[in-house]
Amino acid sequence: MIVEFDSVVKRYGKTMALDNASLEVPQGAVMGLIGPNGAGKTTSMLIITALLSRDGGRVRIGGIDPQRDPLAVRRHVGYMPDFFGVYEGLRSSEYLDFFAATQRIRPVARPAVVADLLALVDLEDKSDSDVNTLSRGMKQRLSLARALIHDPELLILDEPASGLDPRARVHLRELISELNRMGRTIVISSHILSELEGLCTHLAVVDHGAVKAVGEIDDVRSQIFGRQRVSLRVAGSGVVEAEQILRGRAPVDDLEVFGDSMQFSLNGGDNESADLIAQLVSEGIQLAEWRLDGAGLEELFLELTHDGDRTAVDESVAEPSGSDAGEGSSK
Ligand code: ATP
Repeated sequence: MIVEFDSVVKRYGKTMALDNASLEVPQGAVMGLIGPNGAGKTTSMLIITALLSRDGGRVRIGGIDPQRDPLAVRRHVGYMPDFFGVYEGLRSSEYLDFFAATQRIRPVARPAVVADLLALVDLEDKSDSDVNTLSRGMKQRLSLARALIHDPELLILDEPASGLDPRARVHLRELISELNRMGRTIVISSHILSELEGLCTHLAVVDHGAVKAVGEIDDVRSQIFGRQRVSLRVAGSGVVEAEQILRGRAPVDDLEVFGDSMQFSLNGGDNESADLIAQLVSEGIQLAEWRLDGAGLEELFLELTHDGDRTAVDESVAEPSGSDAGEGSSK
């Protein structure tokens, strides 16, 4: 495990930003941290990058406690914050050269490092452009290049797609996938689930400082699906037989019958659902309707994150929060 969080606690005054949060990120994974505003995503990321201390629990990054040896952790970790701060009048190449210098890359090696990174993030032709004239998507890619300067094995990306148009999002997504294929482990936060689907191998649902579900995408899916209700309707007069078949079966809970229809909680995912349908059909039950309520990850996410805060999925009303580490914000 490259990231280990065990019952981590972080308080800001009376605010419990992390409340016994536990999660693990395996080497080579793309782990999505999903949660509504204020869930604790940025706080987790700042602790991983050794920019913030914890108040309790155990943290290991590549086996190292960031509180004991922050410099060693930072050598392994590249961090892209959720804001882009820059001095006036700096060109893209100068911006990267400056951060290469802070990483103690020798002056003679720096031009090649900068050129390679600009090529990687597809900004070669913007090398001489003033950073402030770049589009939002270009700034995000430059910020990603900055996070890569010391060739870290773990990349922490805080809301990298926020404020990007669909085309820029696709571009960034491809870049992140490519970095993962090149062997880097990536932790990426978002409050928009669709941004993470198809990109992440693992997911952690964070809310009010707690990790509500974590694991491989499919596991999280079944944890979520484990809470969904099935509504079914039987054609003809088979409802009593259908009830007898379903009652007492492991994935079926809280079964209620209403006329020719019934509802129950399904403990499982698509496989369990398909098995039950097959069983009913093989016993001659004519199913007129079979509906999974809350079947989407989005609904699951809303259910898991406190009282279904819609800001969690509606970016038009969600404001990214600032951070107290690193440069000044210029969002
Ligand atoms: P967002 O999606 O809005 O960026 P987040 O999931 O990254 O949210 P955090 O920024 O980690 O959430 O914040 C977790 C909680 O800690 C929130 O209640 C936030 O208001 C609080 N918090 C964060 N930073 C500070 C700070 N420097 N001082 C006081 N409270 C803070």
